Amino acid sequence: MKLFDGLGAAARLGYVATASAPLLLGGAPTARAQTPMSITFSPALSDSAAPVAVTLVMAPRADSVVMLQLPNEWAGRTQLFRNIVDLRTPTRGARIDATDRPDRVRLVADPRRDVVVTWRIKATPPTSSVPDGHNHSDVGQAWSQIVGHEGFVLPALDDGTPVVVDFAFRGFDRNAVITTSFTPSSQAATFSARTQLGDLRHALYFIGTASGAVRSYRSKIAGGGFTILIRGRLSIDDSTLVSGVRRVVEIERAFWRTPSPPNYLVSIGVAPRGSIGGQRLANTFVANIDSTRRMDEHVLELFAHELMHEWIGSGVLHASSTIPDGSLSWFTEGFTEFATHRVMHAAGMLSDSAYIAAINRDLRDHAVSTARDSSWNAIVDGYWRDGAMQREPYIRGELIGIELNAAMLRASNGRVSLDSTLRRLAVQRDRFADGFTQTTLIEQFAPQIGASAARTVVEPFLAGGPIALSADALGGCFIPTMVQQTTWDPGFDVDESLAAKRVVRARPGGPAASAGLRDSMQLLGVDISRGDPARPIRLRVRSGADTTRVQYLPVGSPVTVQEWSRTAGCAP
Ligand SMILES: [Zn+2]
Repeated sequence: MKLFDGLGAAARLGYVATASAPLLLGGAPTARAQTPMSITFSPALSDSAAPVAVTLVMAPRADSVVMLQLPNEWAGRTQLFRNIVDLRTPTRGARIDATDRPDRVRLVADPRRDVVVTWRIKATPPTSSVPDGHNHSDVGQAWSQIVGHEGFVLPALDDGTPVVVDFAFRGFDRNAVITTSFTPSSQAATFSARTQLGDLRHALYFIGTASGAVRSYRSKIAGGGFTILIRGRLSIDDSTLVSGVRRVVEIERAFWRTPSPPNYLVSIGVAPRGSIGGQRLANTFVANIDSTRRMDEHVLELFAHELMHEWIGSGVLHASSTIPDGSLSWFTEGFTEFATHRVMHAAGMLSDSAYIAAINRDLRDHAVSTARDSSWNAIVDGYWRDGAMQREPYIRGELIGIELNAAMLRASNGRVSLDSTLRRLAVQRDRFADGFTQTTLIEQFAPQIGASAARTVVEPFLAGGPIALSADALGGCFIPTMVQQTTWDPGFDVDESLAAKRVVRARPGGPAASAGLRDSMQLLGVDISRGDPARPIRLRVRSGADTTRVQYLPVGSPVTVQEWSRTAGCAP
């Protein structure tokens, strides 16, 4: 999967102002009292599995009891409280009690003085069930990249609780590369941040200790400070990565015309072979790239997609916290894809052919997807379990965006587009501070085409089934034709068979049965490339006393797919 991130569990975020002013306990009046705390990171080298220690200092509540929330679920991972080691309080008279939930503890302390809580952090272990090993906390000897969702123990208050935090990094080598989502441009080792509790969790904390393992590049782009960290060895040289990030930031900030945050962090590292993926966090994006990959438009697309989330998906325009996680992902991920490709194309960073290729890829991938006919509810439910389901919000959402854009241009004689509508929504961001539901989002498309027409674009795409765009969807210079495309059909139930370690539901007459596979044969070895009909399925099976190898191409019946091309000699 090319673009991949943890939208499903993303917190609501706006820009987070960073401040280098000292902690102001009785400072300017605010609508809600700010909860002061301090968070200090230090090395814990005696424990190679959990080499970073955190010290949290805060004022207990008047009733002496603070419920503390440990990490639990984030971005497809569960039981993240296992990352927290040796959680305790050294404060005299204070204690930490277990509760009936493994992700909650009760801190009991004297309300008249500050209380200290300490713990160490382990890396989030990789998992075979979710192909995103590179977007999670990586805690090691050379560097530690910690996501707050996975490494912090904080008061169990709502995400919008205002906090003012004194950060400190103590005991690290003075050449260590230390930066966070909240570090001001001056890169101080101690600083304060005014933010919200949810943003503290949805943020990155980085400590690079081995010299040369991490390079840090700082600059100003479009009026805002930028820190670009590059971890490990990539085929793409650092200066090419830095200039790629710069170009993407310049074109997106020029498109949206919103003020730049005072400082922004980009962390670029190595992804597992064959993959590329990213994650947007507060004032930050993480991007990880296969170390053998050369610079191309897909790497720029990854940067552009993650940065686009500043405006669509989790930043300015986001889903309401009152609706289930991921239920608006056709907007939060799909419109991010739409806007990313549009902005890159308009700026000349994607050629006409690369832009059309991205849309043809959506149409083709959807047409042959095992999730093509899945309902929207099934896709939201299966997002973190099934790679094909995970890809659908990006595809269906981008295609919805293209179709809506065409409908708006048609209805307004070219005056109003989806691009201009999104920009209007970003300008009016205060009206949408609580986020969108499907209904309130579709209302915003109504001024041009009417709410019921907007629904007739959105709802059929979400319902599942074949998708074709209107003939004028990409303007006058691009035309569609229909082509045949091979589908992937293993001919047996792969998921149930892997779970049972036996062949389940080998369909009579299908490719598996034709190759000799029969129900209830024992599976001894499997080599399956999901979704790729050109890669043979190889199995080692046992039936009775016989062990045999079975190999066949998982080719299903062909489907008809819309494919777009540029008309010769057309001037837009
Ligand atoms: Zn995304």
